[in-house]
Amino acid sequence: MPDKQIICDITPFSMLDYPDITSCVLWFAGCNMRCDYCYNPDIVFGKGKISIGEALTFIRSRSKLLDGVVLSGGECTLHKETIPLAGAIKEIGMLLKVDTNGSNPDRIRQLIARQLIDYVSLDFKAMPGRFEAITRSTLYKEFEKTFILLQNSSINFEIRTTVHSALISENDLMLMADHLVSLGYRGKYYIQNFVGDTETVGTIPEAHKRIRTFRYPEQPVEIVIRS
Ligand code: SF4
Repeated sequence: MPDKQIICDITPFSMLDYPDITSCVLWFAGCNMRCDYCYNPDIVFGKGKISIGEALTFIRSRSKLLDGVVLSGGECTLHKETIPLAGAIKEIGMLLKVDTNGSNPDRIRQLIARQLIDYVSLDFKAMPGRFEAITRSTLYKEFEKTFILLQNSSINFEIRTTVHSALISENDLMLMADHLVSLGYRGKYYIQNFVGDTETVGTIPEAHKRIRTFRYPEQPVEIVIRS
């Protein structure tokens, strides 16, 4: 595998990024979206400074101490190196989670086909009519293809939406939850409130109305609010 420097940073220990297990997080450089509320401009616009080989050396050194590895970013699926890297991580014997905006269904398809992923966290940014305004991209169809791939696989996955009240209303959220139900989703739907305590990719008001409760009548989807 080419030893490219495509990783901006490594979080060596986390109990929050992979449900129920300890993990480290690899933050991949670059993203094909430009969400105003994104709090990782250094990663979205930055260049990697850690190579795949260095990341694997780190992971091997922690393999007895951690249960899993999270590939995050930025958008980790932009890089074709995620496939051999995921293979190497599985050979080490660790669980693998991918955080993705869903824009690269082919990469997700390959990861599923090779049985390299154990868990996926998929961002649902907005319904088609609002998607471009929120992500500055036209990648809604790709998101939905990724969703359907996961839905038709046996991979555990979750859906999450980041909410800033200037961008997503409670009515938008209701429509998004309805859409997930119509697509057959039956898992947890995480709603994450924007936290305005750091620099963001776009200009966005720091103050916004946080979602504290969200009543959704369709029981197959369980709404969980993350603050
Ligand atoms: S929040 Fe948006 S811009 Fe930031 S990494 Fe995720 S998809 Fe990319």
